[in-house]
Amino acid sequence: MSSLNIIQPIIQLETEKPQMSKGQWSVLEKQGYRKIGNHSAVKVCEWTKKMLRGHGGCYKYVFYGIRSHQCLQMTTSMFCASRCKFCWRGLKAPVSKSWYGPVDSPEHIINHSIDAQIKLLQGFKGSKNLVNKDNKKKVSEMENIRHVALSLTGEPITYPLINEIIKAFHKRKISTFLVTNAQYPEQIKKIDKVTQLYLSIDAPNKKLMEKIDRPLYKDFWQRMEECLDLLKTRSYRTCIRLTLIKNENMTDLQGYADLINRGKPDFIELKSYVWVGESQRNYKPSNMPFMDDVRQFSKKLLEYLPDYEIMREHIPSRVVLLIKKSLKKKCWIDFPKFFQLLEQNKPFTAEDYCSKVMMPNK
Ligand code: SF4
Repeated sequence: MSSLNIIQPIIQLETEKPQMSKGQWSVLEKQGYRKIGNHSAVKVCEWTKKMLRGHGGCYKYVFYGIRSHQCLQMTTSMFCASRCKFCWRGLKAPVSKSWYGPVDSPEHIINHSIDAQIKLLQGFKGSKNLVNKDNKKKVSEMENIRHVALSLTGEPITYPLINEIIKAFHKRKISTFLVTNAQYPEQIKKIDKVTQLYLSIDAPNKKLMEKIDRPLYKDFWQRMEECLDLLKTRSYRTCIRLTLIKNENMTDLQGYADLINRGKPDFIELKSYVWVGESQRNYKPSNMPFMDDVRQFSKKLLEYLPDYEIMREHIPSRVVLLIKKSLKKKCWIDFPKFFQLLEQNKPFTAEDYCSKVMMPNK
């Protein structure tokens, strides 16, 4: 159902810098993005389309139970405080250390994002490729968004009302995955509950992180350490993601282990770098590790992490999942339980909404 008529008031912060130009937006539109309000964007994930075509779900489906065809991929900020060499966006992407400009309301962003996603998916309704019953069922479910991945581009966590928007998603029984590059500890502190919080850790030591992430903040390393210290104290599910780049950051296992042991996440994802977009200027196809490279690296890293074990892998995405042994291999999310715990408004732990694996490894 369209909710475009519900336009919420917008908070105006002091505008110090220009917004993204029309030219920048039109390039992104051609790539499938849809601008939402002043600072948010939606893009249909390739895995959403694959699942609708009956080609399987994303690795978060296999690892955690995210139904890819009912997942909204979006961001609440196009701006980022790093210029990572492996990012597909390249140096033309807008960067900023702090928020500036207007702040759209959570309801405005959610309503328009869902509408934009539904509009972008309309073609599936008349698709002749949807031959079997199962696909038709998925198409009938696609407008009922059940998950949001706040990770599309930029740094969604910088949105001043990040905690409010997460709560608003939860009110609609939409689970939340939030990814941050670990530069905003003060924003992490704001988040009351999220289904799963990710920190991207792109290098095992300060020197390499400066080289790969090209951060705007001079105190980028201390910021990341502070984020790790906070991660350890969170009561909801947490994950550290390593993007592995061959001949670049697949080194210094002790360095990675020290950072991981500092953050004590519930999960660790080791994922291959993908040679796409502007990152092709910085790397070669040979910088993408094969699945076997990722497996070998994961096994070696585990030698430094006695509290973790291998859980699963997803070959199409070249990713391996490690899990805390104390979770007893319960990597899937019990979504009804998660929302029930929120409604009860009592303290809970990650373990309270972890469930046994239900899907075969794909
Ligand atoms: S969880 Fe991520 S990869 Fe999976 S469907 Fe959602 S946006 Fe795509």
